[in-house]
Amino acid sequence: MRVAGKIALVTGAARGIGRGIAEKLGLEGADLAIVDLSAEALADTVATLATAGRKVLPLGADVGDRQQADGVVAAAIEQFGRLDILVNCAGINRDAILHRMTDEQWDAVIRVDLSAVFYLTRAAAVHMRQRGSGRIINISSASWQGNVGQANYAAAKAGVIGLTKTAARELAPKGVTANAICPGFIETEMTRAMPPDAWERIAGRIPMGRVGTPADVGNVVAFLASDEAAYVTGEVINVGGGLVL
Ligand code: NAP
Repeated sequence: MRVAGKIALVTGAARGIGRGIAEKLGLEGADLAIVDLSAEALADTVATLATAGRKVLPLGADVGDRQQADGVVAAAIEQFGRLDILVNCAGINRDAILHRMTDEQWDAVIRVDLSAVFYLTRAAAVHMRQRGSGRIINISSASWQGNVGQANYAAAKAGVIGLTKTAARELAPKGVTANAICPGFIETEMTRAMPPDAWERIAGRIPMGRVGTPADVGNVVAFLASDEAAYVTGEVINVGGGLVL
């Protein structure tokens, strides 16, 4: 029970990595506000957390919209009285080779994968600064270093790292940590949508010999959210079975 009694907010919690993170934080004792595009899509995550005895506030919101992003932070604080842990996990990809990437593909990914992280981090920072404690954990990607077909996604995920390190510097004196996690290749709907040959090619490059699971990421989030990680901030942690070394 590494986060017993803490209040967490996790975005993109209906499925995939976000769901794995929410369920792990629940098992470790946190009560949670969980966010996804539709509140109905959160039903399975709510059921798992309720079975574990946790209090859950499901919120339907588009976190790429500033007002809705501010609204979910406010709703979590109103419901639970405070916010201890923010996990920005909602994300999308719209892959295309650079010279064929449309403005719409660029804008959509920057909006959800970068601007949303800014909106939520800013709103949480206002609250966490006042309380003198807090944990901000942002899900970036191994692709932040550049990946063919992912100029938009790589730019957004690299931006998340710059944002996280800046938050870490600014908030350290206030007792708030900010860290980024870079998942490698994790089995979710996002990766299952890839062509089978691309899947096999990437999976075959993982030194540990297996694709990752949402729980692999959730385990690291639980550590960063815990009191044990009080002196860890501004870090970028790969969770990829050695895919990026
Ligand atoms: P996923 O299975 O596609 O799940 C993403 C979730 O985020 C979905 O439930 C989605 O809702 C939700 N979402 C999308 N846009 C949203 C918005 N504007 N507001 C609120 N919720 C929104 O993806 P995943 O593989 O779990 O990825 C989760 C995060 O990890 C992403 O940031 C991704 O970039 C990152 N990541 C994943 C991998 C990997 O191998 N899977 C590797 C590196 C990084 P809908 O279902 O309604 O679209």
